[in-house]
Amino acid sequence: SVPAAVTSAISAGARRGLLVKGGAALEALAGVRLVAFDKTGTLTTGHPRVTDVHPLHGRADEALALAAAVEAGSSHPLARAIVEHAAHLGVAVPAAQEARALPGRAVTARIGGREITVGSPRHVSTLAPLPEGVQADIAALEAAGKTVVIVLDGVTPRALIALRDEPRADTPAALARLRALGVEAVMLTGDNARTANAVAAPLGLRVHADLLPEDKLTRLEALAGAGRVAMVGDGINDAPALARADVGIAMGGGTDVALETADAALLRGGVLGVPALVALARATLRNIR
Ligand code: ADP
Ligand code: MG
Repeated sequence: SVPAAVTSAISAGARRGLLVKGGAALEALAGVRLVAFDKTGTLTTGHPRVTDVHPLHGRADEALALAAAVEAGSSHPLARAIVEHAAHLGVAVPAAQEARALPGRAVTARIGGREITVGSPRHVSTLAPLPEGVQADIAALEAAGKTVVIVLDGVTPRALIALRDEPRADTPAALARLRALGVEAVMLTGDNARTANAVAAPLGLRVHADLLPEDKLTRLEALAGAGRVAMVGDGINDAPALARADVGIAMGGGTDVALETADAALLRGGVLGVPALVALARATLRNIR
């Protein structure tokens, strides 16, 4: 019978770490024409590493200490990388008060009466002018696929910190398999266009960059006009788009919010689970019809 085929497909998926929350989700998966992928933590490992600290004012280790202090309370992948880098170099990190996150933009806190912000060049340049030539340095780092954040001390830019997050080992194979299934793929990211394109170009992916969390949802709605759309993500910032997609797919290592919002989840491995889910759903529906 129909429910029996669906039930056994769902348990077969679960044994392989492909969690599908019910028959409606499985049916939607079979009809997916396009998959929108978040970048950080989804197509990439989500464990960026600090590659460069360029001082702009004062010493690099002082700026790194301020940045690590501000990021200490944040669970963002960039924050974890900055804190780890400071610990690795043995930098003494001061205590920060009143830390606040501006999702998709920055983190800010008070240290010894000073307001310190660590955030995207776009956000920081709305708070203070950047020194001559800095934009060109940022552009070069971003063209190399690195994400750049700026450490701002009051209105003084103290340093550029560049971080690199590598694609997951199975990302190229997953995208090739989706292509073979006739499914299109795009990247949706809060990161800037230069960094996003440097990561996406070797993968042959179309990119929508510079998206604030709410923009991911509007972009997904625009893409949904062309047929059934799946969204794959791991973050709190992906939750609205995961909810709106015909099928939301959460990365197992992601945030609880993403896991709760999604219709399906990949509990093991990387994004190879996405074409596996589509193939499983199509095979099941073919057997029923
Ligand atoms: P993604 O969509 O790639 O997961 P986010 O939407 O979380 O990225 O963040 C977008 C950008 O906002 C980051 O590339 C960074 O410039 C800035 N940003 C966000 N959170 C932080 C943070 N904790 N520290 C520094 N910069 C941040
Ligand atoms: Mg992410």
